[in-house]
Amino acid sequence: MGKTFAGGVHPPENKRYSESRSIEILDAPEVAYIPLSQHIGAPAEPAVNKGDKVLVGQTIGSPKGFVSVPVHASIAGKVLKIDLHPHSVTGKPEPHVIIENDGSDERAQELETLGDNWENIEPKKIVEIARAAGLAGMGGATFPTHVKLSPPEGKIIDTVFLNGAECEPYLTADHRLMLEFADDIIDGFILIGKALGAKRHIICIEANKPDAIEVMIEKTRGTGIEVCPLKVKYPQGAEKQMIKAVTGREVPSGGLPFDCGCYVQNVGTAKALFDAVSRGIPLYRRVVTVSGPIVKNPSNLMARIGTPFSALVEACGGTTEPVGKIISGGPMMGLAQHTDEVAVIKGTSGIVLFGLDDAESPNEMPCINCAKCVDACPAYLMPTNIAACGEYGNIEMAEKLGALDCIECGSCAYVCPSNRRLLHYIRAVKNEINIKKARERAEKAKAESEKETVKEVEKAE
Ligand code: SF4
Ligand code: SF4
Repeated sequence: MGKTFAGGVHPPENKRYSESRSIEILDAPEVAYIPLSQHIGAPAEPAVNKGDKVLVGQTIGSPKGFVSVPVHASIAGKVLKIDLHPHSVTGKPEPHVIIENDGSDERAQELETLGDNWENIEPKKIVEIARAAGLAGMGGATFPTHVKLSPPEGKIIDTVFLNGAECEPYLTADHRLMLEFADDIIDGFILIGKALGAKRHIICIEANKPDAIEVMIEKTRGTGIEVCPLKVKYPQGAEKQMIKAVTGREVPSGGLPFDCGCYVQNVGTAKALFDAVSRGIPLYRRVVTVSGPIVKNPSNLMARIGTPFSALVEACGGTTEPVGKIISGGPMMGLAQHTDEVAVIKGTSGIVLFGLDDAESPNEMPCINCAKCVDACPAYLMPTNIAACGEYGNIEMAEKLGALDCIECGSCAYVCPSNRRLLHYIRAVKNEINIKKARERAEKAKAESEKETVKEVEKAE
């Protein structure tokens, strides 16, 4: 059993393919395709030129603005070019730094290494290192960690959560990390709590990972850190649902966890923070689950950022039949890819492959007003109405209906007997709302700057 939230769904877990496979280190690729945009916020700017020699861990992309992080080389070699290449999140060609491996695996040491002295670090320094190491949420959200660790003034965070729910079907990367790197994860979690001055630490794990729960209980004994098993239900790993399930607190509409004194961080990011602070290692590799019914040897691979998906699938022995669908992430929230040339990024938790039969989309039929989508929605929304706004372009109404509170979990589409493409329409209308808001902000800023210019001219006259 375990704690849970209202709504949600129970898709087949399908963790059996890879949950017992230990993490294997994947060979560095011959050529790495490293996107300059791997995080929410402004893309990094190239910090190298064609022909430059780079080392593993060297900064190759500099952050642009506060909500941005640097990008590091994942292999040593020569920069072949900075060019457009397909991106797994946008589906479009985006700027990548393309590096040819020279086989030396020579490392750069740009970050300070605190070693065993990490426990004495100042909170401000933790945030600085998180940024310098290029950390962004590795659960898939890719929000820059240093921004998340810098709540607005006046916001007190008393409770931090370590998110080991991994509720997406097929994915087992976090599960294996908890079993194999529990000490690093816990130490990274302590650093997170320290950076925020939090009093309560809670590790949340879905009850379908009893071995990870046991390891975490054992490793945290006497530390005051709580381990909280959660009911197996999708999307149990969503931040707002986790906070509500464990503490009863609600993140207000349009708000963030810090609005109710909470902070949630994925286990992979906690480990990456510890690696950065204690070992001086920036984020240039991550664990990726490669799974699905047609993968010959489903695995959990420690892959360099920039490794093409095709190389990961090949390392798993390929597939038993032709690929009908390849998804970056899990089947509920992941993104279908049109090519396996896309590369692993900081937020790539898994690659799931299906055959041709599973790739066919069932015919979409009219809504029969059964309200199953409403019952399933963990954000208490009316998915059918918001989706209709998306389908017919009614942006204002979608905003009024709380479209921006949608966490894009896909539970509504999963239960719909009419196969309505609810998530597709909702994502589209959310995008429109965000574009409208950005335009309004830009217009306001322009008007204010024009006012300032007029004032300055009047003063000068
Ligand atoms: S409306 Fe959004 S939050 Fe609600 S079930 Fe659908 S995708 Fe999930
Ligand atoms: S689940 Fe599908 S058919 Fe039922 S109300 Fe929602 S959109 Fe309509």
